[in-house]
Amino acid sequence: MSFQNLGLSDDVVHGVQSMGYIDPTPIQLRAIPLVLSGADIIGASQTGTGKTAAFALPILTKLAKHGGLRALILEPTRELAAQVETAFRDYSRFSNLRTVVIYGGVGYGKQLEELKRGTDILVATPGRLLDHMEQGNIDLGTIEHLVLDEADRMLDMGFMPDVRRIIEKCRKQRQTCLFSATMPPEIAGLCEWALKEPQSIEIGQRRSVAESVKHAIYPVAGTQKFELLLALLERTHYDSVLIFTRTKHAADRVASQLKALNHAVAVLHSNRSQNERLEALAGFRSGKYEVMVATDIAARGLDVSGISHVINYDVPQHPEDYVHRIGRTGRAEATGDAFTLMTADEAPDVASIERFIGQSIPRVKLENFAYVYSVVLDSTKSASAGAHNVRGGRAGKGYSFGVRRK
Ligand code: AMP
Repeated sequence: MSFQNLGLSDDVVHGVQSMGYIDPTPIQLRAIPLVLSGADIIGASQTGTGKTAAFALPILTKLAKHGGLRALILEPTRELAAQVETAFRDYSRFSNLRTVVIYGGVGYGKQLEELKRGTDILVATPGRLLDHMEQGNIDLGTIEHLVLDEADRMLDMGFMPDVRRIIEKCRKQRQTCLFSATMPPEIAGLCEWALKEPQSIEIGQRRSVAESVKHAIYPVAGTQKFELLLALLERTHYDSVLIFTRTKHAADRVASQLKALNHAVAVLHSNRSQNERLEALAGFRSGKYEVMVATDIAARGLDVSGISHVINYDVPQHPEDYVHRIGRTGRAEATGDAFTLMTADEAPDVASIERFIGQSIPRVKLENFAYVYSVVLDSTKSASAGAHNVRGGRAGKGYSFGVRRK
């Protein structure tokens, strides 16, 4: 089945082809005909599966040509909003449809100007959208297609009351699509309230992690975490590495320590200004920075192609964040490696991740690394070769785990 046979408009098919996509992904195959049929949808799909195009392509087909604001896409973070805006613009480049993005942390002027010029599609984060609505800049009474993307993350970030206020202002006669990696009761309640006879689409197991990713846990004493991170970076043949920390403070600290050792590092967390965040992302995308240190909220759903490795400097507290972090690599069926440094304190969090994803992750010991003893190392007993390519690393000894060498 190709994009041509799914009922999409010629403009949209042309747009997709110009992006270099050849075949639809499984979620696109399932979702595109359903969205075209006008049905409400609940989509549970692992990250990096092509979800954005799954809703964007049929919505663009239905909008067809410029005619006023009719589609609203709500996103939890500015980065995701910017990314989805770019996707809509790319896919619609052979039509005269217009897309505008609005999010907080930047001035109102440019957004107001863009809104005044008129748009068909609005991609927004909830807080700034409400501000514009209260100022009378936006009327949602004409919205025919509403997408609630990453709904569980909007819930985690405390946006649910805002989301409900926004939905109340949308036209009653509309199509609503909700995407969420998990289905906590609050989201189930939202679906009942905001969607009509929704069709559910679940691609793969709701909790599964991208299958193309190789995982490993590196047990280590807390005092040696940074040293082990350095050793891993030194022995890895990476294209680009995304390092996750639990806190903004830790992200800043790890980044400045790496910088001091001459690594080209970007930092992404919510205390940084919008310009700093955009610069970090652009630099990471372009290869100016080979390493990016980020917190979960900032990095959720980010699409940065070519990430060969994700390193969890800290074990995520919420198991679903593990799935999302790992989803940064192995996007759209590319391969990548995912490593998690684990101290004794973090072992219970790893156990809950393993329960959540329904698989155990091999414990690996880095060869020729001068480990100090920690009780957590006892879990590595027989796994020192790990699940990865064993290659002569530097000096022909350590092993490297690069899957995509430069
Ligand atoms: P998403 O899950 O929407 O964030 O998409 C993940 C990545 O897959 C993005 O880089 C998309 O551009 C890419 N992508 C989406 N659909 C396809 C497709 N059918 N073929 C190849 N790449 C795709």
